[in-house]
Amino acid sequence: MRPVHRLIPRVGVVLLVASACGAAKGPNDLVVADPAEAVRAARKMIDEQRADSTKHTDWISAEALPPSLRVPGLHHASVHEDHLDLVIDRNPDIEIGGRIWATPHRPHQDQATKYPDILFYSYNNDFPESPDNIH
Ligand SMILES: [Zn+2]
Repeated sequence: MRPVHRLIPRVGVVLLVASACGAAKGPNDLVVADPAEAVRAARKMIDEQRADSTKHTDWISAEALPPSLRVPGLHHASVHEDHLDLVIDRNPDIEIGGRIWATPHRPHQDQATKYPDILFYSYNNDFPESPDNIH
């Protein structure tokens, strides 16, 4: 039997998913108590990852993060070669949250937040990677 979601038009799925997981969340839903320290801690983890690509793999739970990166509602964090993601909402296709970039980093179209050097992103794995859809 085909999964139910394949029977519904894609736009319907997106709306359904958006309402189900609260994906109306936006930059103002990201709360960072000490943004300067969060950026410092994130860039340290990115540096560690660049030095050893096996250092930070898979999902990182809040408890395993430096305190400054334990943002309210955090699902998990991920460290990549030029950025760190703080995932605050997700479903099998979409994840959204805060993002801290290393310097330098690739071009992106993440949204500004009220915190310097902390951006807001969404990623949908149904679409190819592009500057506005980075995993
Ligand atoms: Zn990422």
